[in-house]
Amino acid sequence: MLSMLRETCEISINKERLIHDLNAISRIGLGDHGAVTRLVFSVKELRARQLLIHLMNHAGLKVHVDRIGNIFGRLNGANSKAPAVLAGSHLDTVVQGGKFDGPVGVIGALEAVRTLRENNVVFAHPLEVVCFVGEESSRFGFSTLGSSLVAGEVKLEDLANAVDAHGTKLEDVLSSMGIYRHNLTSLKRDPASIKAYLELHIEQGPILEAKAKKIGLVTSIAAPTRLKVVFAGQADHSGTTPMEMRKDALVAAARFISYVEDVCLEFSHMDKGRVVGTVGALKIEPGVINAIPGKAELSVDIRSISAESKDQVAKLIIEQAREIAQRRNISVDILPIRNELPVALDEGLLLLIEEGCKRKGIPYEIMPSGAGHDAMQMAKITRAGMIFVPSRRGISHNPLEWTEPEDICLGSQLLMETIVRLANED
Ligand SMILES: [Zn+2]
Repeated sequence: MLSMLRETCEISINKERLIHDLNAISRIGLGDHGAVTRLVFSVKELRARQLLIHLMNHAGLKVHVDRIGNIFGRLNGANSKAPAVLAGSHLDTVVQGGKFDGPVGVIGALEAVRTLRENNVVFAHPLEVVCFVGEESSRFGFSTLGSSLVAGEVKLEDLANAVDAHGTKLEDVLSSMGIYRHNLTSLKRDPASIKAYLELHIEQGPILEAKAKKIGLVTSIAAPTRLKVVFAGQADHSGTTPMEMRKDALVAAARFISYVEDVCLEFSHMDKGRVVGTVGALKIEPGVINAIPGKAELSVDIRSISAESKDQVAKLIIEQAREIAQRRNISVDILPIRNELPVALDEGLLLLIEEGCKRKGIPYEIMPSGAGHDAMQMAKITRAGMIFVPSRRGISHNPLEWTEPEDICLGSQLLMETIVRLANED
């Protein structure tokens, strides 16, 4: 076993091939100024998934695509019946996002597994490279769709509230592809078929760069609570309606938005229960210069690694929305989109990855994740671990998102070594 490990450490991933394939994925959906847009179930996102299937076939992996479109590329070890070590991430992006959020974890895992295959490395448990569908919530306000289904965590009624900016319902998009709601519960994977899940991902925050660390080992993931809040007042003429007789939905929304900031600032001094809250989308009707806004629809995203603080803030925010509406004599609808619990990742996996860092002398940081990831769903059915690589200036969900190729390669190499150790563990 020890000699096998020593040998594996001497095997290197193919850096050029990894960066080449990452670039090939980035070109799908590439727009102005290097922005990448591959919204879930768009033609571009489907093409990226198709390219991945091609790359997996080429690498000699056995490809399985489940009903929603999650892709699993499998390489059997000595014991094909044993639970598999899974590693991956997602290929969908936000609108005008970057090249690395998601693909680093998918292509990084693919590179790890194909390197092992090429070098005839001996391992017992099967390996699977995974691409989950719809990790980003940008299109439907619904995050980690594919991994939630695999973890059996989707409430089917939640899907019914999911609508994109063009008014297209997630359910309709799915049914146009022959995917029906009632079939989706069967995607839950038997936990006995999985040994562990590993995800390599860009940090999406400034900590690793600021501390000059190359690798982040993730302890826990802050999960979002998401609401849609709709203020409905009355659209009227902007010239003839006296100020005191107005039912302006946008002014109500404005007061509400600044409350979200105020309350989260109040909770930001807490060490463990820090809460962040964002109103990231706002739609007003009729949305013209000479009419009082009759309707304002906005999204609220609240996150914390403390479920207690998050619930407290969500409760205050909901109360405030009702109060504002009552004060202004308009109505408000509050639709819960998602309420996720913060998730602790597996300590044993963290220690295993940490050992790898120590062995190679890699400077690392042990840290929580402020962003959600597929790993938080997988953690509900298996041991899950995450490896972060630095994000320049902490920027992500933006064309300026950047991670040094060397750092991506280091992450993929560490992932490969962790996979081998896991796949030979009893
Ligand atoms: Zn991501």
